[in-house]
Amino acid sequence: MQQARKLMPGGVSSPVRAFRAVGGEPLFIERGEGCRLYDADGREYTDCLSSWGAVILGHADPSVTMAARQALEKGSSFGACTPGEVELARKIVDAVPGVEMVRFVSSGTEAVMSAVRLARAFTGRTKVIKFEGGYHGHSDGLLSKAGSGLATFGIPESPGVPASFAAETMTVPYNDLQATSQALASLAREVACVLVEPVAGNMGVVLPAPGFLDGLRRACDEHGALLLFDEVITGFRVGLGGAQRLYGVIPDITTMGKVIGGGFPLAAYGGRREIMERVAPAGDVYQAGTLSGNPVAVAAGSAALDVVRQPGFYERLEELGAMLERGMRESAAKAGCRVTINRVGSMVTIFFCDGPVTDFASAARSDAKRFAAFFHAMLDAGVYFPPSRLESAFLCAAHTPSDIERIISASKPAFRAAA
Ligand SMILES: *Cc1c(COP(=O)(O)O)cnc(C)c1O
Repeated sequence: MQQARKLMPGGVSSPVRAFRAVGGEPLFIERGEGCRLYDADGREYTDCLSSWGAVILGHADPSVTMAARQALEKGSSFGACTPGEVELARKIVDAVPGVEMVRFVSSGTEAVMSAVRLARAFTGRTKVIKFEGGYHGHSDGLLSKAGSGLATFGIPESPGVPASFAAETMTVPYNDLQATSQALASLAREVACVLVEPVAGNMGVVLPAPGFLDGLRRACDEHGALLLFDEVITGFRVGLGGAQRLYGVIPDITTMGKVIGGGFPLAAYGGRREIMERVAPAGDVYQAGTLSGNPVAVAAGSAALDVVRQPGFYERLEELGAMLERGMRESAAKAGCRVTINRVGSMVTIFFCDGPVTDFASAARSDAKRFAAFFHAMLDAGVYFPPSRLESAFLCAAHTPSDIERIISASKPAFRAAA
């Protein structure tokens, strides 16, 4: 780590990895297999991070690995059209109700940035309404009051973002329909889109209150704004077709990432045909990428989607998630540790505070010291949780009920340490 710190800011390629929020030295991962991680010192961990949700089948999944290897042997990048892209686009369009056409990019940040540009072009308006604690990648203008690493470090936005850019984004509390409607009304005909994680995952897991997503849909329609679901986490994670299918609310534009790349750098934005046809070269909204639709990433993502499309896949993840939630609640109660557990399927956050946790203000009450004690006790017991109190843990298909039992038994002393 010392060497890493000399060569890379904070020793990392992305901030939360540095363990600043929990203290101690970060793991250096040597390899992964299924739901196990092995660090450079040869220690084994049961992984509850799953690469921030990207590896829904677990590490080095045989079907994903084989698909990627086969693609790789044919060449890693051509900067030209490949048949695999069309196949993956078909799988996404078939599964996600709000997506009739899709554009592939390389990261979630890029997907949301491009989707917002498209929303602005389509509506001829500039303002964006987002939610406090919502994270949509690190592009200028979307960092204000964002979640993920910014929430972890208490950074509301970033130096280097011109105030004039940030001024285009208005932030309201998550699950607050009234504040959203008021914001839409006060900005009259200026709002291009309402940008929301349909299940928030970057302030920890926060569920949409009954009627919240429906209400956003209606409010957007009333004010001529587009509804943009950032499903970079939830797409193919909370179910086939993402949160929009789970909750039955169809956005105008959807962004996806993480799961659809099978653990490779791949993301996408898509939406109604009429909107997507504005994207160049079909339309006039410019967006491009040298490695966009990279054939190795596409092959891996496509193989992953073939597995999640199998009947019973999400039901099994739900059972594992429910088992984890139940067990964690019991061990916390026995340890006299007051927590609030929020979960949708295989996404779960344990907040070290009383509930309910419904927005960023209530999530932020989760106690940092108690979380750090829990995190390190889990790590000592060989279970790797996200190293921040305001992130989601993710189960993967490689977890078995006995892995869940292992995690639960590790949590008993960990909750005592955090009580
Ligand atoms: C991870 C994430 C992003 C950013 O994706 P990157 O691939 O890290 O750039 C955007 N939105 C949401 C909801 C995310 O969870």
